[in-house]
Amino acid sequence: MSDNHTKEVRSYNMSQIRSKNTKPEEIVHKYLFSRGLRFRKNDKRYPGHPDIVLPKYKTIVFVNGCFWHSHEGCKDFVAPKSNPEYWIPKLERNRLRDAENKAGLENKGWNVIIVWECELKKDVRHERLERLFEQITTDASAVE
Ligand SMILES: [Zn+2]
Repeated sequence: MSDNHTKEVRSYNMSQIRSKNTKPEEIVHKYLFSRGLRFRKNDKRYPGHPDIVLPKYKTIVFVNGCFWHSHEGCKDFVAPKSNPEYWIPKLERNRLRDAENKAGLENKGWNVIIVWECELKKDVRHERLERLFEQITTDASAVE
């Protein structure tokens, strides 16, 4: 019982250490700011404490880690094989809470966008960020 750090958590921690200098949400913050958007960060008034809130565009962006938020079909989301009685309910609770938060915000008229950590890997990042900018600004201008 001395090894309570599962292999999965160790590799998660290692990936956190590697990306310490630029966290995924910081990549998105910097890009949107550079495109002239202004937003609130980690706003605790909203469920799930969204990473980015853009009141002007009535849009909320969550930057989600693929493991903790169970990115379905993603190769970065591997359901832990060790200690499943702990991990499966825990990840399922996260997933349900995410879905509830999203539905609650959408009911209040927010446009909710999820950016997955795997979408911010170097080779695909630029395309994803450009698309995100479009998603934010186009949806709002469509309201007439
Ligand atoms: Zn993913």
